[in-house]
Parts: sequence; structure tokens; C-alpha cells
Amino acid sequence: MRIAVGGFQHETNTFAPSKAELEDFTKGGGWPPLSRGEAMFGSIAGINLPAAGFVEAARERGWTPLPLAWAGATPSSYVTDEAFETIAGYMLDGLEHAGSLDAVYLDLHGAMVTESHEDGEGELLRRVRNLLGPDVPILVSLDLHANVTPEMMTLATALVSYRTYPHVDQAVTGKRAARLLDLWVERGGRGFASAFRQLPFLIPLTSGCSLIEPAKSLYDSLDSLEVEGVDSVSFNAGFSPADIHHAGPTVTVFGSDQAAVDAVADGLAASILAEEAAFAGDIMSAADGVAYAKGKASGADRPIVLADTQDNPGAGGNGDTVGLLAELVRQEAAGAALGLLYDPAAAEQAHQLGAGAEGDFALGSQSGLPGHEPLKVRARVAAVGDGRFTCTGPFYLGARMDLGPMARLRIGAVDVLIASKKVQAGDREMFRHLGLEPSECAILGLKSSVHFRAHFQPIAEEVVVVAAPGPNPVDHLALDYRNLRGGLRLMPNGPLSKGPVAAGAT
Ligand SMILES: [Zn+2]
Repeated sequence: MRIAVGGFQHETNTFAPSKAELEDFTKGGGWPPLSRGEAMFGSIAGINLPAAGFVEAARERGWTPLPLAWAGATPSSYVTDEAFETIAGYMLDGLEHAGSLDAVYLDLHGAMVTESHEDGEGELLRRVRNLLGPDVPILVSLDLHANVTPEMMTLATALVSYRTYPHVDQAVTGKRAARLLDLWVERGGRGFASAFRQLPFLIPLTSGCSLIEPAKSLYDSLDSLEVEGVDSVSFNAGFSPADIHHAGPTVTVFGSDQAAVDAVADGLAASILAEEAAFAGDIMSAADGVAYAKGKASGADRPIVLADTQDNPGAGGNGDTVGLLAELVRQEAAGAALGLLYDPAAAEQAHQLGAGAEGDFALGSQSGLPGHEPLKVRARVAAVGDGRFTCTGPFYLGARMDLGPMARLRIGAVDVLIASKKVQAGDREMFRHLGLEPSECAILGLKSSVHFRAHFQPIAEEVVVVAAPGPNPVDHLALDYRNLRGGLRLMPNGPLSKGPVAAGAT
């Protein structure tokens, strides 16, 4: 079988400070840089990415994968029209020149919003479907944070989503898409029976983690729901900081028996709804979190992790807020280290000074968020690095990082690790690159909501989620939604969305 393979991944936080420009996709950073044609396979090989898993599974079956393009950028605000049109254009162009095709596989996120399209994936799928016609199967893998829309359900042949957050099963999900294509072929190209259910409340990012309850048991149950007549069951926790009509959690089920598919979808939706209160989660202020961690650290021989979730660059934060860092410095948290602070100017200054030198720095807050100021400190340059290293933890496994000039600054008893590209603190190699072994720190401040858990939870005494000021509020009531559908609860058991607000209204 000849199967076109492409990928276009962006998680759009419509409240975030900066848009995703074409350059953010071409340079990659935490993701492989944009690639097209044969180079695409080399660029994604060996990385925990859905497309890499699909290509591997396709070759094992003797299928011929044909490369379209693969592009991903760090989550941020809207994807610019230029970026969307260019990358979608590469995909469509590749399809037009691919010759006869038996199937298409697309590695998408599911929560992409562009300047012109609320449902970025729906728009891409519409164009692909228009080109291919109704008979060629389009298999799509999605992120667990997909805001799945009815259009995506209709346009794709089948959708299959990650079951882990941290997303350690991305490549595995690509393989599961190949398995669905097997079934499609076995049944002579008959379409799947499908069911789509939208849940009536938004889930805060930090409590969608599949390592903690209630999400853990729900995700663990999915395998056992794939009974006779049901091929694939996904629970998408959704991506809340997206001001679009179809934001929120969904259940998507595909199979061969409509009644069985519907029954499983209804049962899973009911199980999720029954856990609504437990999805509210537990959060501390930065001041309370640091004080708590200091108290705990004195009796522990493993680090206390403070997750700086509201500035998570994996959810649209710029990675440059300094609320938690300032609190660590103010409370003189001995043996504490915070990473990664996005500040190319400070990294450059540290490289100019050189390791061992001291200087006056104005750290972070470069993105101009209202109410945020740089942290002015005297610091010693403890280490510098070129930002190039390979990740070894389960989330970023194999990713070849290229974060530009990096530096570790020592402020009193606190270390801060600085990078020239924004990426979430999801791998211990980010610390080791600058000569710090994270397991030996007393307190670790990490700019991440959940992905850090894959590599850091095993070495942590305890994980505390803190809410220092930042663009990714844990409490959705702090977000000025204007496009959400009505009747959706903004937080678990919280108040209802007021529905779409007319343009010009306040
Ligand atoms: Zn995700």
C-alpha cells in the first residue's frame, strides 16, 4: 500500500502573548525543524513522535510511506495565516504529486487555532478530503489535549489519541493508527462506526495528568473498553486556554458495531462525569509553595518539585515569568534550582562574562505581559553551554535539543537555568547540560504543568503545583472567554460559560 504521511502539530493557547510564526516551525527547538520530502523520515526517526511510530509500523507491514511534510512548534497563541497556509500548502502539494494513494496518515495535535480558522485541523482535513475525495481513508492521530470538533470526526476516517499525559505514548499512538488501517483493509474499506461525546466541563491542565487520579484510572480503563465491535476508544482531556466554540474534553470511539460503539462512548462519558469534582485539583501560591518545599526539603534526601504551571511553555507560556524565581530568592531556598527561564539576552550576557564571573542581570519578563517586571539581581555565572544535547527521559526521548546559548546563574543559594529558546522543563539533561544533577537539588522549580513528571517524578520526594502569575491560569475563571459555547462549566462543578459574546461587547 502507498500511504502519504504528514504531520502538523500546534497546541494553541489563544490567551498567550506571542503567535506561532512560520519561523517557529522552520526552526523547531523542542520539536524537529520543519522537514519535507525524503528528509522528513530522517528528521523524525527515533523520536517519540506519532509519525515516527506510524512509519515504523508501516514499514513492518511492507507498506510504502510517502513523505509529505512534518512541522511542529512550541505551543503559543494563534498560528499565523502565513504559517498555516505555507505548511498546509506543502501537505496538499505533496498529495497532488504523490501519484495513486491507498491511504493518508496525518500526525496532528487537535487544538490548533489559526488567525483565520478556529478549528485548524478541521480546515486542513477539509482541504485534504476535498483533494482525495470520499474513498481514500484518512487516519489521524491526535494529542490527548485535542479539542476535537464534529468536523474532524466527519472528515477523518478514524481518530486515535494519546492515553498518557506526560505524553510518553506518542510513537505508540502512531502505531495504533496503523492498526486501525489494518482493520479498515480487512473489512474491505467499509467505514468505521463512530461516536463522539462532548463533556460539559473544562478540565484544568494539571489535573488531566494520567499519573494521578482521577485521570489515571480513566486512562487505564480504555484498553478494557475495546470489546467486540469496538476498535479504538479515546478520552481527550481537551485544551482549556483556547477561546473557541468546541474547547473541552471529548470521548471518541471507532469500531464495527454502532450499538457497541455508542454504548462504550456513553459509559466512558458517564465515568468521566462521575469524577468531575476530583478534577478540580490542588494548587498553592508561589509563596506558600516555596515555604512548604523548604520545610519538606530539610528532612528529605530527594528534591521537592514545584511546578510553575501558569508559565508552562508547553501550554503557551513564554517561559519567562519570574514570580517563582523571585520567591525562591526572597526566601533564600538553599539548594533550589529553577529551569528553564527563556531569556536570550541574559544567556548572551552570561556568555560574554564567562563562567566564574559576576554581573548585574535583569532576568525574564521580556514578553511584555502586563504587571510583569524583570528580576534585577547580582549573580555569578556558574556554567555556560551551547544548548545542544540529546534528551534521555521518556517524554522527550531522543529529541535533539538546540536551545541556543544557555547559562546557569547562581543568585545567593539559588540556581537559575537560562535558555535562548523556550521549551518546557521536561528532561533532566536540561540541567546536566549546565553541570547540575537535578536529583541532588533540594528544590526544583520547573516551568511545566505535567510533562516534567515523566522524568522528574521518579526522583522527586513530592510534587507541588504552584500558581505564580503567568499567562496560563489554572483557574479558567481568570480567562476572558468570548467564543466558548454556552452551557459549559468553566471549572469542574464551576460556573457556566456565558456563551459567545458579540463583538464589541464588554
Ligand atoms: Zn498535549
